[in-house]
Amino acid sequence: MTGFTQLEEIPKIHAALRKTFRSGITKPIAWRRHQLHQLARLAQENADEIADCIYKDLGRPKQEAIMGDVAAVIERSLIVASNLEEWAKPEEPTVQPWQQSWNTRVEKQPKGVALIISPWNYPFILSVQPLYGAISAGCCAVIKPSEFSPHVSAFLAKAIPKYLEASAYKVILGAVPEITRVLELKWDHIFYTGNGRVARIISAAAAKHLTPTTLELGGKSPVLVDSSADIDISAKRILWGKVNNSGQICVAPDYILAEKAIVPQLIDSIKKHSQDFFPDGALVSKSYGKIVTDAHFNRLKGLLQRSKGKVVLGGQWDEKTRGIEPTVVIVEEEDALLEDELFGPILPILPVESIDEALQYLQDRDYPLILYGFSNNKVNKQKILDATMSGAVAFGDTFQTVAVNEVPFGGVGESGHGSQNLKYSYDSFSYLRPVFDIPFQDEQFFGARYPPYSEKSLEF
Ligand code: NAD
Repeated sequence: MTGFTQLEEIPKIHAALRKTFRSGITKPIAWRRHQLHQLARLAQENADEIADCIYKDLGRPKQEAIMGDVAAVIERSLIVASNLEEWAKPEEPTVQPWQQSWNTRVEKQPKGVALIISPWNYPFILSVQPLYGAISAGCCAVIKPSEFSPHVSAFLAKAIPKYLEASAYKVILGAVPEITRVLELKWDHIFYTGNGRVARIISAAAAKHLTPTTLELGGKSPVLVDSSADIDISAKRILWGKVNNSGQICVAPDYILAEKAIVPQLIDSIKKHSQDFFPDGALVSKSYGKIVTDAHFNRLKGLLQRSKGKVVLGGQWDEKTRGIEPTVVIVEEEDALLEDELFGPILPILPVESIDEALQYLQDRDYPLILYGFSNNKVNKQKILDATMSGAVAFGDTFQTVAVNEVPFGGVGESGHGSQNLKYSYDSFSYLRPVFDIPFQDEQFFGARYPPYSEKSLEF
């Protein structure tokens, strides 16, 4: 991608944002609200162009991009704008009776100048969602979108200064050299969305400046299916979560742990629904995307070639379009497909004797971003909740849960820390500052605290 930000420009951008933040212009609520309205306008007025850029980068159907990305950004920016005044109000805690004259309040303050680093898989919303958090908190921000989604990145670089206050919000374009330069500088918060390997680089850079981070990562989000589930509906919903964006979703169902007895029925249902979704085949369907780059495509191809599992659906790919069919593989433990996050339309099924065996399997593994359970059995559902840790748990569906705005979205352990969504995004870019205003008249009550101490001062 051409048009990367010049390395020598990066410290200048950083210094300019710091100057803007110190000027205080980002702090008034009315100003923040206006920027949020502008952000919604940016998404609304450019919906077609955004969908077009997403299509060029990911082959993602327009309907998915408009519904999943553009509409969500408009809705969330407006919700944040209308709730901001309430969220930003200082809290007035109930304090001890002897402190009641101190006018104690907890103010919500912007952290300062934030750095937002976003990935290619949802290149628009994953750049702009942290941005509405930064704006609402009163921060300045730089967005560093992914070099692997160049059309959306270029769009952001063009549109953000046009719609938002250009002295407060900037886009830096680039790859590893540029982001390495960016990370040498001191930021007041780093909001990173991407993989765990790079998250370690970000964390190490942040640690040098004691910069707090939000890390929105991924991992292998498992799906548990027991014999009490409605297998047909489960199959349809799991498949949908896997084929959307060609499986390149942080909360895509990564693999299935299914009770042995229902595996044949589950496979039959997945096959049937795949046929219904893509009657002429996924590789020629306008409702199916592609893999983002040759490197990602070759990684997935390599995994399929290394897997010792039995392919029961799909397994074909198209080098030219970088399409990979929805591919279901029955595997045994230790299979290549069970090693790292797949991030593609490959769905391994590991048959298990029981939910207990599945839970044991999960307990030996990293905490995923989300855990999916398909069951009609209350006891099993509770066992799943009690025996596991994950960023979130969803019974009965996949992926759709990201549409719930009012809950925190984030991981735990290897899947990250911190969270986002509406007020949670606001909170990520704010810090709490208690303010006390102790009247001079209270001096009469403070006599006992000053030296010299005496036994008398200990009398209650
Ligand atoms: P990516 O390759 O686009 O990387 C993400 C960002 O990191 C980019 O802006 C990139 O420029 C930057 N980067 C790359 N190398 C770097 C380096 N050496 N130093 C500093 N920055 C660097 O995207 P990705 O990581 O392939 O994204 C996919 C991953 O993101 C998956 O693991 C997925 O689960 C996760 N993800 C998580 C969420 C979430 O909200 N939790 C959302 C989407 C994706």
